[in-house]
Amino acid sequence: MLYDAVVVGGGPAGASTAYHLSKSGLRVLIVEKEKLPRFKLCAGCLSARTLRLLPEGYKGLILNTINSGKLGYRGLQEYEVEVNREVAYIVDRSEFDHFLVQKALEVGAELLIGEFIGFEKEGNQYKVYTSRGNFYTDYLIGADGFHSKTAELLGYKKRKFFRSLELFTEGSLRDKVLIEVGWVSRGYLWVFPHGDGISLGIATTGRENLLEILRDYALSKNINFKHPKGWHIPFPEGKKDIQIGKERVLLAGDSANMTDPLLGEGIYYALWAGKILAKAIIQNPSEPTKAYELMLKPLAEELIYAGKIARIAYRFQRVAFKMGKDYALRNFYRVLTGDKTYKDIYWKGWLEFLKHLTREKIEYILKRHEGRHSGVNAEF
Ligand SMILES: Cc1cc2nc3c(=O)[nH]c(=O)nc-3n(C[C@H](O)[C@H](O)[C@H](O)COP(=O)(O)OP(=O)(O)OC[C@H]3O[C@@H](n4cnc5c(N)ncnc54)[C@H](O)[C@@H]3O)c2cc1C
Repeated sequence: MLYDAVVVGGGPAGASTAYHLSKSGLRVLIVEKEKLPRFKLCAGCLSARTLRLLPEGYKGLILNTINSGKLGYRGLQEYEVEVNREVAYIVDRSEFDHFLVQKALEVGAELLIGEFIGFEKEGNQYKVYTSRGNFYTDYLIGADGFHSKTAELLGYKKRKFFRSLELFTEGSLRDKVLIEVGWVSRGYLWVFPHGDGISLGIATTGRENLLEILRDYALSKNINFKHPKGWHIPFPEGKKDIQIGKERVLLAGDSANMTDPLLGEGIYYALWAGKILAKAIIQNPSEPTKAYELMLKPLAEELIYAGKIARIAYRFQRVAFKMGKDYALRNFYRVLTGDKTYKDIYWKGWLEFLKHLTREKIEYILKRHEGRHSGVNAEF
């Protein structure tokens, strides 16, 4: 059977690519190894700017609307910064991803529940091997997530990623999300609402024992601890880590490392990349990789600047925590709503950061000075 495009993976990246390609009149096959709806470990938090990328009919999927964020430091200090608008939404990933695939099918895509095994170039086409038969295609799209077989076959390796653990349990947060820093060397802990319950999770690029930290945190906050599941979140450190594919085999979403290095947001970038990828194929069918790379520039820039912020924020977590109250969180909300980009907030953020760092250092010196006279040790 011959298709214009075979898309491996029915997550946000695959469904978005399939939707936009099918809408443009291409014959598309989605190959998904899990029967849908399938479970996907994820907090399901969509930044408000994501809505403009969603097909109609998504409203019923929103479990919680977020218009307030709390920032915590090691479970000891905490503050809340409210906004008068919706900055994010929580969805259940199994329903959300199923909806996106259904939308792609409505505009003509076909779905095969089966596992992608490999591909070979045969003349001008690719022969695609799956557990449910073989297919021919002009374009092969790898949207198969962190353990992407497509990326692996292209010779790519995952270099930078958060290790993460997450569990779903009882609790109530309604319209707030809580992000805690100070627990791991490079990463954070979260408590997000999830319908009538909560999701509790932690992500790091370090070597900490996440299970122990999460269990202790749950105990200290009276959260009913249930055994968590683990998964990885891949992000780019530089442009070269955004692995877009070769010739007419192209990648999107986690398979291409398109999550933000600050918080690991990936759904927005997966949907956005899928849309760009489809446009690149339509506009430049003979050299789609070239067009894709060019059109991806704004997306790549967001990820790179989020990474620059992440490097400072995680290196100086206490300063970042203090900064959150009067600068960082409000500006972060503007990124979530799409009014600003990470690049916009990075430069002004630098000045704010230096101000806070200087203040912190002066406080430290003064405390040490007082401590010397009173015999009390000061901590930085
Ligand atoms: C704990 C955790 C919490 C997160 N929280 C958030 C959050 O709140 N907000 C946010 O924006 N992002 C979050 N993320 C990141 C987000 O989940 C991913 O970035 C997003 O799912 C990427 O979408 P994708 O379509 O690229 O890949 P996926 O969603 O992983 O989809 C890949 C699909 O490919 C299929 N597949 C894989 N291999 C094959 C194969 N060989 N053959 C056929 N099918 C195959 C899989 O079954 C899967 O359905 C979180 C991640 C984790 C781990």
